[in-house]
Amino acid sequence: MTIRVLSIASEAAPLVKTGGLADVAGALPNAVAAHDVAMTTLLPGYPAVLARLGDAAQVHVWPSLLGEGARLLAGMVGGQPLLVLDAPALFARDGGPYGDGNGRDWPDNGLRFAAFARAAADVAGGAVRGLRFDLAHAHDWQAGLVPAYLRYAPAGKSVPSVMTIHNMAFQGFFPAALFPLLGLPDAAWSISGVEYHGGVGYLKAGLEAASAITTVSPTYAREIRSGEFGMGLEGLIRARDGHVRGIVNGIDTREWNPATDPALASRFSARSLNRRAANRAALNAEFALDDGGPLFVVISRLTWQKGMDVLLSAIDHLVGCGAQLALLGSGDKALEAGFAAAAARHRGRVGVRIGYDEAASHRMQGGGDAILVPSRFEPCGLTQLYGLAYGCVPVVARTGGLVDTVIDANLASLAAGAATGVQFNAVTYGALTDAIERTVALFADHAAWTAIQRAGMKADFSWGRSGKAYADLYGQVLEAA
Ligand code: ADP
Repeated sequence: MTIRVLSIASEAAPLVKTGGLADVAGALPNAVAAHDVAMTTLLPGYPAVLARLGDAAQVHVWPSLLGEGARLLAGMVGGQPLLVLDAPALFARDGGPYGDGNGRDWPDNGLRFAAFARAAADVAGGAVRGLRFDLAHAHDWQAGLVPAYLRYAPAGKSVPSVMTIHNMAFQGFFPAALFPLLGLPDAAWSISGVEYHGGVGYLKAGLEAASAITTVSPTYAREIRSGEFGMGLEGLIRARDGHVRGIVNGIDTREWNPATDPALASRFSARSLNRRAANRAALNAEFALDDGGPLFVVISRLTWQKGMDVLLSAIDHLVGCGAQLALLGSGDKALEAGFAAAAARHRGRVGVRIGYDEAASHRMQGGGDAILVPSRFEPCGLTQLYGLAYGCVPVVARTGGLVDTVIDANLASLAAGAATGVQFNAVTYGALTDAIERTVALFADHAAWTAIQRAGMKADFSWGRSGKAYADLYGQVLEAA
């Protein structure tokens, strides 16, 4: 029997994206469709989303959704059913989904995503005529209150829920003064409800109330049991042990396939790696780089999590090894300035673009030699998966999903033809520069390098297996309900 799932996310590619969550939320409906799951996605009505929705139908109205007027629009985008919460007072504003253009969070994010979750719980619970769901799948803190609202909903207006953690570092913590506005019963103000360190914890609430918890790789599922990675929620994760599992993200092969990618100057496959040279030449022009490599690329938020401070300190060494760097990213202003200064210092060897550019990220995967991911923690990571698919060899820190997806080029894996990248241990100057040196040496061995590229391109990180894992989980949750 088909399982009907409402997937609730604050971003979904290609409509609105700030990171990996959007890639996953955008790909999941197709991934599970093959396993008899009919998934509908609910998104907030940001201007960019409403613009893409086209001629949508209004299917529900809330005269007062936590105090704001709101309506639900239903349409199809990319062949998938989409629901959009149109609440102009909350979502119709210029800037990003979570903050203004200057990196400041919207001051009413607590209310914005409480209203979003309240609406989601209503919809999942059957409030909208003609829309029936068996299960709600909430992503990250922005949807964290969905399981809580469902838990406290009257009988007959609730469904089981799955809560997915895409990054434990973002928890959605708000002052206690918000609680009376949420419309939850007094009983919810407790340690087993939404209360967290004297405030309201949105992710915490979801983890407490969800029927099942997932995160985006098996290694991260283990890591968040410890204080270092659990970031305060490790006790709760351990307490819910039997309900937590790691399902590694897939990649959307419709968007990320080097043989068909319209962003590439020259499309290629594992059998025609020589065609990457034209992409490399295009990157040289785009980033004002000299000929000669190897070319490391970085496509990343410029933050401490991503180890970008360590990378910045290692740039002189990277250039000293004869390598080059093309970096695309935005984030911490000090890091942005630091990378721009490094590019000025190493003209022709280091190219930096501050900003966010989806097409450029494809061109970099298609023309770069190696993608550097020196993350201090990484729930799954997607850029290394795109690198694998594009013959852009991942050089990654040994943490989270990076452990689960990249096979380090050591003697045994090289001999077996299994190596797909380079891993290094601590995110320190020494470990990173060692990894860079190791990569440069591997690159010089053309046969070994090509074998690594080919092994990576052969590895299957499409959504097949993970789509089935989510579908199986939904089935188990419904059986247990
Ligand atoms: P996170 O979600 O923690 O930022 P992931 O590796 O899971 O990290 O996902 C990041 C996603 O965002 C990838 O699809 C990556 O290609 C994309 N991305 C990150 N920074 C940029 C950028 N500056 N321009 C274009 N795409 C970017």
